[in-house]
Amino acid sequence: MSTTKHLTTFVHNLKQRFVEAQPKRGEFSSYVIVFALMGVALLVRLVMAPVNAGLQYVTFFPAVTLSVVIGGFWPGIFATFIGLTLATYFFTPPFYSFSREALQGSFWSNMVFLVDGIIVCASIEGMHRYRAKYAAELKEAKYQEARVAAINKSLDEFTYIAAHDLKEPLRGIHNYASFLKEDHAAQLDESGNQYIDSIQRLAERLSTLIDSLMVYSRLGVAELVKVPVDVDAVVDAVAEDLSRLWTREGFELRRNGRLGTVQGDAARIGEVFQNLISNAAKYNDKSSKWIEVGCDRSGTQPIFYVRDNGIGIPAHHHDNIFRIFKRLHEQNKYGGGTGAGLTIVKKIVERYGGRIWLESVPGEGTVFYFTLGA
Ligand code: ADP
Repeated sequence: MSTTKHLTTFVHNLKQRFVEAQPKRGEFSSYVIVFALMGVALLVRLVMAPVNAGLQYVTFFPAVTLSVVIGGFWPGIFATFIGLTLATYFFTPPFYSFSREALQGSFWSNMVFLVDGIIVCASIEGMHRYRAKYAAELKEAKYQEARVAAINKSLDEFTYIAAHDLKEPLRGIHNYASFLKEDHAAQLDESGNQYIDSIQRLAERLSTLIDSLMVYSRLGVAELVKVPVDVDAVVDAVAEDLSRLWTREGFELRRNGRLGTVQGDAARIGEVFQNLISNAAKYNDKSSKWIEVGCDRSGTQPIFYVRDNGIGIPAHHHDNIFRIFKRLHEQNKYGGGTGAGLTIVKKIVERYGGRIWLESVPGEGTVFYFTLGA
C-alpha cells in the first residue's frame, strides 16, 4: 500500500472514531481525552518555552478545538480552563507558581482566551447539533421514502393479482352470454337479444379496463431499466405505428430539432410518446391538424414536449385527467378510450424521477411537458 493510501486510511479511521461515530460525547471518556490533548499541548509548549508571547493560543487553542469536536461543549470548556490554568502556572512570570503576580500578569490574556474558548465551543457544538439533527431528519426521510415505496409496490402487486383474478369470471360471463345468444336467440324477443348484446359489450369494456389496471400496476412492480435511449428513434417508431391514422385524418407531425438521448427504457419512453401523440391526434377538431414534438435542453434536465392545436383542456381539469379511468367526454366521443393513458404516462415519468405537466388554451390547443429525471 502506498504512503498516501496509508495516510488516507489513517485519516478516515480517525475521522470515523472521533468525528462521525462520536459515541461518547460529553461522557467521562471525553474528559480523559481532554486531559491527554492538553498534556500533549503542554509538552509542545514546554519544548517551545524559549519562544515567548501569547503562545497559549497557538498551543492550547488547537487542543481546545479538538476537545469540543470530540467531546462536546462542556469538555471544550473544561479544556479552556485547563489551558488558562497551565498558561498561568507554567508561562507567566514568576513561572511555576499561582502567585498573585502570576494571576495578575495573566489576567487579561486569560480573559480573552476564555471568551474565545466559549465562542469556539458554542459555535462548534451548535454546528454539531445542527449536523446531527439534519442527519437524523435525512435518515428518517430516507426511511419513510423506502417505506412508502415498499407500500406502493405491495399495493401494485395486490392490484395486479386482483385484476388478473377478476378476468377469469369476466371471461365466463362473456362466454355464457355468447352461448345464450348462439343457442337461445330464437326463444328471446328483440329486447332480450339486446340485453345479451349489452352484457357482452359491458364485459368487453370491463375487460379493457382491467387490462389497463394490469398495465398500470405492473409498471410499479417491474424492474427499472436505465440505459441510453435514442429518443428520436423512439418517436420515429411511434410515428410509424400511427402513420396510418395520420394519412387518413390528415395530421402533420412536426419535429422541432433533435430530441437527443436520455437514460431510460425505450419501450416505456415509447409508451409515453405513443399516448401523448395519439391523444394529440384524437382530441383535435380542426380542419388543419398538427402535432409538434420537441425538447428543450437549456436547463439542468431535458424537457420534452408534445404540442397540438386540438380542443384544449380547461384549467380545472388539469389534475383530473391524470386520474385513472377519468375521461372528459362521453364514452365513444373522440374515438373512445379507457381514461387510463395519462395515468400510465404519469406513472412511467415519475418512476424515472421526472414529472409531467401541461399548458392549454381551450379551443386552441395543449402542450404536455415531461422530464425523465436526471
Ligand atoms: P383516454 O384518452 O383513454 O380518455 P387519457 O388518460 O389518455 O385517456 O386522457 C384523459 C382525458 O384527458 C381524455 O379523455 C381527454 O379528455 C383529455 N385529453 C388528453 N389529452 C388531450 C389533448 N391532447 N387534448 C385535449 N384533451 C386531452
